[in-house]
Amino acid sequence: MENLSDYKEIADMIKASGGEAFKKCFQCGLCDILCPWNKVRPFSMRKTVREAAFGFTDIESEDLWLCTTCGKCPTHCPRDVRQIESGIALRKIAAEYDILPTSAAPIRGINGSLTGEGNPFNEDRKKRGDWAKELSIKKFDEETEILYFTGCYYSYDPRLKKAAAATAKILKKAGANFGILGEKENCCGESIRKTGNEQLFKKLAKENIKTFIDNGVKKILVSSPHCYHTFKNEYSEFMTTFEVIHITEYLSELFNSKKLKITKDYNKKVAYHDPCYLGRHNGIYNQPREILKQIPGLELLELEETKENSLCCGGGGGRIWMETQKGERFSDIRLQQAIDAEAEVLVTACPYCVANFEDSKLTVKGSENIKIKEISEIIAETL
Ligand code: SF4
Ligand code: SF4
Repeated sequence: MENLSDYKEIADMIKASGGEAFKKCFQCGLCDILCPWNKVRPFSMRKTVREAAFGFTDIESEDLWLCTTCGKCPTHCPRDVRQIESGIALRKIAAEYDILPTSAAPIRGINGSLTGEGNPFNEDRKKRGDWAKELSIKKFDEETEILYFTGCYYSYDPRLKKAAAATAKILKKAGANFGILGEKENCCGESIRKTGNEQLFKKLAKENIKTFIDNGVKKILVSSPHCYHTFKNEYSEFMTTFEVIHITEYLSELFNSKKLKITKDYNKKVAYHDPCYLGRHNGIYNQPREILKQIPGLELLELEETKENSLCCGGGGGRIWMETQKGERFSDIRLQQAIDAEAEVLVTACPYCVANFEDSKLTVKGSENIKIKEISEIIAETL
């Protein structure tokens, strides 16, 4: 990268990419104490910030790609350095020059799949609604009240499709007037934006917004906290006015208004894992717990790091698509915490967490007897 050897040029690029907040850092080191990476390998956000402030950033460094955007350090930073946005500013430069370390190389393929098929799996766009084929779920039209925006993982991933089916079962049981857009739906774009590909995020967002408007969508229900976050907090940059609701909020409403009734016991010890994008990024901690507490027989356990201090599963910030070496996976640690708490079920409300915990179950010793559940699956089993 000879043309990047000029530090002044890098400093200018960082500024142009929105990374100016780096300069506010006074090197207290709190971010390094809080960052989950330091449980598994050395990583210093403080150092990243310091180097960027002086334009010394090594754009080829793998460190640029480690942050999972878990939200832990920004909420404690005394100088409001906004480490996530600042870190994305660095990734934008790397992405622009197509400089990706081996671990982040899969992003190139993801960019292609999202551009071509609107999902990160390179699956046929036309098959996006196939998960619902046998479930007689209607297509969204102007008479439909709620759009169930299924999202990529719930639409295509064999494990998460079961959670989408469970959600549909609940919605039907509650008599909700809902429908899906199927092949008209695109990836929400949340995670690709965190890898620095702002252009692709804008393309996906604009296409989705146009589809919502063309189809008369006013209320959007989502299962993924990543869809939730971006629809609620990022699509508003395009002046959108849709109501966005996460399934845990909606379930809470359904139980409170007595539209849903639990009829079966669930005699198990259940530990709830707070997904970063539902908890820290959007403050939803109570609804999932309230829902679970209503189920007779269910014993709700709290894990070692919980609520605001929840341990990230490792899947945010585009890391769900990157290589994470064995021994460095946060989800392994989280699963072990659940085993140590003697939980029989580890439940969460995010597709990335479910995917990562299921992967961890393949290698973490002693996890044979613990089940991984998406919250809708437990509810659907007890109706
Ligand atoms: S917590 Fe904030 S001020 Fe402290 S080192 Fe990290 S970025 Fe700098
Ligand atoms: S946001 Fe989370 S993963 Fe990223 S540097 Fe801060 S603590 Fe670490």
